[in-house]
Amino acid sequence: MMFRFLMAILLLAAAMPPTPALAAQLRVECPEVIGIGLPFVVRVESDEPMGKLLVEWGDRKLQVSAAGNRDVQFLLGSDVLKSKPGPQALRVTRLGLSPVAVSTHVLVEKREFPEQRLTVPPEMATPPAAVQERIAREQAEVREILAGVSAVNHLSLPLMRPVPGAVSSAYGLRRFFNDLERNPHRGLDLKAALGEPVRSAAAGQVVLAADHYYGGRSVFIDHGLGVYSVYMHLDEFRTEQGAMVEAGQVIGLAGQTGRVTGPHLHLGFYVLDMAVDPSALFFPKTGQ
Ligand SMILES: [Zn+2]
Repeated sequence: MMFRFLMAILLLAAAMPPTPALAAQLRVECPEVIGIGLPFVVRVESDEPMGKLLVEWGDRKLQVSAAGNRDVQFLLGSDVLKSKPGPQALRVTRLGLSPVAVSTHVLVEKREFPEQRLTVPPEMATPPAAVQERIAREQAEVREILAGVSAVNHLSLPLMRPVPGAVSSAYGLRRFFNDLERNPHRGLDLKAALGEPVRSAAAGQVVLAADHYYGGRSVFIDHGLGVYSVYMHLDEFRTEQGAMVEAGQVIGLAGQTGRVTGPHLHLGFYVLDMAVDPSALFFPKTGQ
């Protein structure tokens, strides 16, 4: 993977005439090109301790607290459904009395995803009118949660696997339910037997544990800085809303609730309200 290194130098000569010009440097390390749907780590280094950073990624904004450190890292990404391929602007500003900004672009590259055809009960492919309101309510609830950005960062990489099972459906698959094209697969399906323990991929706070029409029993965990993991189709919860969880803690038992063709775990992973491919985060190198 190609990486780009950027520097910003701000000369503060005018502000402090008696002393030599101070050079305040900020360095941003990020991929030059990244496939659509793949998350990536941005690393920021500063020549002096940093307070807050403002990150602007396309039309999304993120504030990152560096807590006086000279380097900090965070996750960004794009969404197979919501993002468009092409260059996307990334700007990092070190906030303070003399803000320093670095601007660059990351090329979000188009990828081809295979088709997947599934047969489900008719009411799961085309929900009856009676449940449309329920679905709309659940989608609004999920949208509101995923749009939230908590300042505390609980995330540590690489992620832990929630279940040991292999991937049965990859991220990005173009999905046809009973021959009707629906949204692409915006997560990862992992093989899991009914009743198998499901573990949190990273530390965080459970912000929702609810039974949804499509997702079935679902747990949403907030890892901070706009990063969430979601575990769907659970048979049972083993946590509750508001609980703090550690990486690897059992949060539920795998099942087949919601729109499924059999027991498995759907793992969703979101960055700034964009569904990214979590498989890229199970190992230190992204994009594989
Ligand atoms: Zn799935």
